Amino acid sequence: MSTRKSGVWCVVKTCNNITEKRHFFTFPKEYDRWLKWIYACGRVDLKVMGPEYAHRNYRLCHLHFEEKWYKISKSRACLHPDAVPTIFFERK
Ligand SMILES: [Zn+2]
Repeated sequence: MSTRKSGVWCVVKTCNNITEKRHFFTFPKEYDRWLKWIYACGRVDLKVMGPEYAHRNYRLCHLHFEEKWYKISKSRACLHPDAVPTIFFERK
């Protein structure tokens, strides 16, 4: 069930300078939650693409979620179904 691939990157551009090990989560398919995610990470430009596209092509790493939202065990990371990213290093 792992979706890890080589060359995975985070949708938050400034985040990719970080060398720390990160776990990546796919964008949700549910419209409402997906909308919260793209607004939260400032990628409203993705709105025209729709949730299916973002789900397939974009990842957000665990650094953008409060710890209560995810669990990391061994090499696997699980994200709570209601999780919304709230932590960003650079906001406009
Ligand atoms: Zn990130």
